[in-house]
Amino acid sequence: MRDLETRQYIGGEFVVGDAESIVVVNPANDAVIASISGASATLAMRAAEANSQAARDMKALPLLKRAELVRRLALGIRMDAARLASILTLESGKPILESRGEVEYAASFFENAAAAAEMATGELPASRMSDRRVLVLREPIGATVAITPWNFPLAMIARKFAPALAAGCSQVVKPAEETPLAALAFASIFEHCAHEVGAPAAAFSVVVGDPPTVAQALIAHPSTRKLSFTGSTEVGRILAAQCAPRLLKTALELGGNAPFLVFADSDIDRAVEQAMLSKFRFMGQTCICANRFLLEQSVAEEFLARLEVRVRALANMIGDPTLEFTRMGPLINDAAIEKVESHVADAVAHGAQLRVGGRRAEVAGLSRRFYEPTILSNCDPTMRCSREETFGPVVAAMTFHSESEAITMANAVPYGLAGYVMTQDADRLLRVAEALDFGVIGANDGAPSTAEAPFGGRKDSGLGKEGGTHGLDAYTDLKYVSLRVRNC
Ligand code: NAD
Repeated sequence: MRDLETRQYIGGEFVVGDAESIVVVNPANDAVIASISGASATLAMRAAEANSQAARDMKALPLLKRAELVRRLALGIRMDAARLASILTLESGKPILESRGEVEYAASFFENAAAAAEMATGELPASRMSDRRVLVLREPIGATVAITPWNFPLAMIARKFAPALAAGCSQVVKPAEETPLAALAFASIFEHCAHEVGAPAAAFSVVVGDPPTVAQALIAHPSTRKLSFTGSTEVGRILAAQCAPRLLKTALELGGNAPFLVFADSDIDRAVEQAMLSKFRFMGQTCICANRFLLEQSVAEEFLARLEVRVRALANMIGDPTLEFTRMGPLINDAAIEKVESHVADAVAHGAQLRVGGRRAEVAGLSRRFYEPTILSNCDPTMRCSREETFGPVVAAMTFHSESEAITMANAVPYGLAGYVMTQDADRLLRVAEALDFGVIGANDGAPSTAEAPFGGRKDSGLGKEGGTHGLDAYTDLKYVSLRVRNC
């Protein structure tokens, strides 16, 4: 592909890395897309230093200019949508239709953050004493660091950087080594927009390199005030431990194990539609993908039979992710497909019934990372596909007999990111939504992510909220000024 940016973006300029190269490979066909000279710890420290200076410059930038820049970035993303979508598909294997959706999703975070910043207010709480006023001020928290995963290479940067910038902070991003090209393409959009608006071009940096080396250098810098991480629970724990001695603020958006509850009183066709959306987006590689399908016994067979028809049709749309017709591309890497295979094998060995799929799909001339959409029924909570995030196109179905049993089963995992409930009974909808111990609930909705909502998990799924006004709050600190007023 022409015009791929492969340099680091540090302190407002593109620079060539000084460490071992990161080779970016297309998961669909194993072709090398780019080789990026990685950043050493020294270069990462330079980025942290520039980030620190930029935080001071951003704090001084009037809201009018900040909001202008943030809105200009939404426009910049949309103007470059075709190129960004192609990059996302090339480096992640995401079907092109979904990549376009991700680009639009990313733009929406910038619009939302600009609006939230313009609406932000301080407080003047009622004073307990006649000679005192308390002014509560909002201030940007300063220099921040973001570490992002490969499954939404652009949108996860947008979800973190848009509110950071709108609040008046700076940010260094370390993207996933599998998908750094969308981050660098965005850096060139940022550089252009910042110059156009007259804002600090160093308010954003992208550092690509060995993850622990870069992360440690960024976290250790004395000016870094916050780490926002999206990725696995395992790495989230490592990073939280590194942040602890510095008492850094942390936002951790981690793994999930989403239950998808289908009650007998649901509209089954609608439930199937939402299940397809929730399970097979990006071949099951999103953090909120349904992982466990909990079906009320009396409708389980009907639901599975209708789902099977849809899944068989989907299997005919596996192919080259750059093609318009394709709905399922490759999984991100060999480890991902091997995990899916091991979950299916474990379930079948322990009594699950394989209704459809359950093997790699052959796609002429392409890699061996394509997996057929799969349905396993007769699963139970002890199987790996129930206990762990499969992160692949596998429906693991089991049954329940009552609402309370469904809720107990749904909540019986250490994760708490997303949960789904399908029912037409309004009372049940609200009861179950309240009882599910998850941060995001899809109520007859298989795709609940949206820029205006406070996205985030509970328990082992992490800490903090991103999106909407709460996303902005995560990058602001409150300060109060206590004023003594002389009474006449
Ligand atoms: P990952 O944890 O392996 O990697 C995420 C990021 O952390 C990458 O940038 C990676 O380079 C970096 N990293 C890895 N090891 C590191 C280390 N030792 N020190 C510092 N940085 C390190 O996760 P992944 O496989 O890229 O992403 C998939 C996971 O992310 C899934 O568990 C998924 O559920 C989760 N996820 C969560 C959300 C959410 O909003 N909660 C969104 C998307 C993905």
